[in-house]
Amino acid sequence: MTIALGCIADDFTGATDLANNLVRSGMRVVLTTGIPDAPVKKVDAIVVALKSRTIEPQRAVEMSLAAARWLQAHGVTRIYFKVCSTFDSTPHGNIGPVTEALMDLLQAPFVPVTPAFPEAGRTIFNGHLFVGDQLLSDSPMRKHPLTPMTDANLVRVLQAQLQARRVGLINHATVALGGAAIAERAHALTEAGCAIAIVDAVDDQALQRLAAACSEWPLVVAGSGLGLALARRLGFTERAEATALPVPSGAAAIISGSCSAATNAQVANFIARGGQAYRVDAMRLAAGEDCATAALDWASTRLGADPILVYATAAPDVVAQAQSNAGAQNVGERVEAALATITSGLVARGVRRLVVAGGETSGACVNALGIDRLRVGLQIAPGVPWCHSQNPALHISLKSGNFGGPDFFDDAFAVLNSGSADRSTKV
Ligand code: ADP
Repeated sequence: MTIALGCIADDFTGATDLANNLVRSGMRVVLTTGIPDAPVKKVDAIVVALKSRTIEPQRAVEMSLAAARWLQAHGVTRIYFKVCSTFDSTPHGNIGPVTEALMDLLQAPFVPVTPAFPEAGRTIFNGHLFVGDQLLSDSPMRKHPLTPMTDANLVRVLQAQLQARRVGLINHATVALGGAAIAERAHALTEAGCAIAIVDAVDDQALQRLAAACSEWPLVVAGSGLGLALARRLGFTERAEATALPVPSGAAAIISGSCSAATNAQVANFIARGGQAYRVDAMRLAAGEDCATAALDWASTRLGADPILVYATAAPDVVAQAQSNAGAQNVGERVEAALATITSGLVARGVRRLVVAGGETSGACVNALGIDRLRVGLQIAPGVPWCHSQNPALHISLKSGNFGGPDFFDDAFAVLNSGSADRSTKV
């Protein structure tokens, strides 16, 4: 049996986001954290989750190439490099360097790049990325702790990350003409020396037209939106219900390390409604204090069916202050390490239903738990499903910072406990 699609995601929430869309499209999907250590059987798609978005570009390239080689060795001929729907990256990468390395490996003459996910409000017009009705550079993403996005022009952003290739644009007018026109434009761009192009997509139809053009190409670079269209193009049929997961049990907890506007609102809402919450202070972590023990002591007497929240989530001015004292990368890593330790401690104390908010934060927590595979289940909100890990046995949802409505935390546990999908279509 051939695996129709091999995916490499540059963070863990991105991996569950894409896996969620592929499952909704009728594909059987396995999500592995890192390169699988054993063959994966009876699946239509594999999503390899890496934590490679903000690491050194050279290391991100090595990890991504290793994943791609593993996928190739297991019969995969189509690779989907999943990037963030807000194109989160630093001026050095890692979207550009990884894309070029994958193109060399796969001998891909041309690669379309589109982070669009219209269902979640991410659209691209004339190469500019919009978050809802705001340009990316006007959105709260301009203040991200690790990957502030201050330019909405993706042609320019991606070009700055590339060594050897030029970036072009396949604009809305061309996309509207359909798959053949997109393929023609791709050919013309390649002839003109542009081997990579940002592709406009303002709605799902645009992604379907792109999928019609690129379903046989060796490499696409995209957010999770294209996954829905690509799966359909490859002959899979959408299913209203995602795969059922085992019945949940055990204590419930939320770990939040995202500082996005959406997560700040979700944390504030949870606390305003009387949820029990413990704040981990990034300044104290940056000063070398151990905050994990105190957090676990606090949590120990409160664990039960109602979720508790442990959060480092803070407003941009608070984040900026911690960063100015200790450096952005350093404080980010310390916060991630503390939240990962707390997560392991919570699971050791009986937490079996866990929400983690934040992409980097999720990577740190999943790695600390030693989770190597996830089954993807019910969708809570666009881009965010519940997942199940067998070892350790627990239900876990990894929420990208930007995703979910203001009541996301309540929505999450309501979906899990009721077993019915997608109460929320809010973004
Ligand atoms: P998102 O999905 O919103 O991008 P991430 O978890 O990927 O969230 O990134 C958030 C980063 O901010 C992490 O590295 C996290 O450790 C860091 N962080 C969290 N809280 C704070 C804080 N109070 N001060 C500084 N950095 C923080």
